[in-house]
Amino acid sequence: MVKIYSKALDQSIDIERLIGYHKGNQPGPTLIFFGGIHGNEPAGVFALKKVFENLEVLKIPMSGNMYGISGNLWALKNGVRYKKEDLNRLWTNDNIKDLYTNKPHPDNEDSIQQLDIYNTLKNILDVEKGPFYFFDLHTTSSQTIPFLTVNDSMLNRRFTMQYPIRMILGIEEYLDGPLLSYINEHGYVSFGFEAGQHDDPNSVKNHISFTYLSMVFAGCIHKNDVDFDKHYEFLNSTLKKSHKTYEIFYLHKIRKGERFSMKTGFINFQKINKGQSLAISDGKSVIAKSKGRVFMPLYQDKGDDGFFIIKKTPYFFMYLSTILRKIRFDHILPTLPGIHWISDKKDSLIVNLKVARFFTKQFFHLLGYRSKEIDKTHLIIKNRETASRKEDYKNAFWNKRYYSLSKTTSFKKED
Ligand SMILES: [Zn+2]
Repeated sequence: MVKIYSKALDQSIDIERLIGYHKGNQPGPTLIFFGGIHGNEPAGVFALKKVFENLEVLKIPMSGNMYGISGNLWALKNGVRYKKEDLNRLWTNDNIKDLYTNKPHPDNEDSIQQLDIYNTLKNILDVEKGPFYFFDLHTTSSQTIPFLTVNDSMLNRRFTMQYPIRMILGIEEYLDGPLLSYINEHGYVSFGFEAGQHDDPNSVKNHISFTYLSMVFAGCIHKNDVDFDKHYEFLNSTLKKSHKTYEIFYLHKIRKGERFSMKTGFINFQKINKGQSLAISDGKSVIAKSKGRVFMPLYQDKGDDGFFIIKKTPYFFMYLSTILRKIRFDHILPTLPGIHWISDKKDSLIVNLKVARFFTKQFFHLLGYRSKEIDKTHLIIKNRETASRKEDYKNAFWNKRYYSLSKTTSFKKED
């Protein structure tokens, strides 16, 4: 049991690994929410605690069951992001294998937390039948309107299009080891929700509304049994009828020893122009190479992601990629010279860079691939769709209807 404090609410609560568990009276999906993977982000934990209390008190009829899992308990207790290593960058297959073979050193708090979370998850997956939905609740160092971070698989897209919340696709291409990418690579619907600034009271409210919407969208509770319209409108008001889908184009990764400071005053999603000075690195100005929007500017001591640049993903692209992925257009690629399947699994391609330069990154994205450069001559691209557990979700109502654009989207020209 650890005591954690919320500056936003000026309140302390005692929590354990399991923030809460609620079992419905009917069979249904299993929803797993994480809060506080970063210890300086207690808003998600406080919100989940509140929702679990309401579920008990109000006796809301529920199908399936729901778990709330706390993240870095050591860091939550100490009010810091992590001890030595970011718990949201440790979820790689190599790291997890290592956790099991060489148990973490007693000093290595972050890995100890990871192993405990891993075992908790494994138990749930062993006990429950699914389908499973995973949600990771976060907050940011700078002021922001709420947004979703979504690995770009069709299952994830279809599910997340239900929310009246901005969506950032493709973060998995820039970050190694986020928890939700690891789970998504195992084929489950899983994504992150960033509710606002760490200490803003609205971040807790946004997390509560997001949790109720998630339960309705996954078919756990009926919208008439919760204040659905209030929660929907609360989040919808932050979207302000603006464009909904964005893609990451650039990350300023802070090198070891680099002295980096973001220029003051940037807010998330702020428009920037080519040539604009964004940050200072080792005494020199960091200039934007293209226009777009600044995303997750770093205004805290810990972390090595300086800032991202994002651009709108046109709705036409979203539609086109749905079609191209459905007809498995990617199977044409290995007929071209310089492109080969890596194995019979046909989930990854190795592309000669001389050939790759004829294709833009967006082209591979359209076909459902994430890319990673491996050496000076080749590129490995991995299909995001192959692992998807399509069967598990085939009866979910959000997956049955044909992919359509949300009622809250608009085609207003901004950039
Ligand atoms: Zn976080």
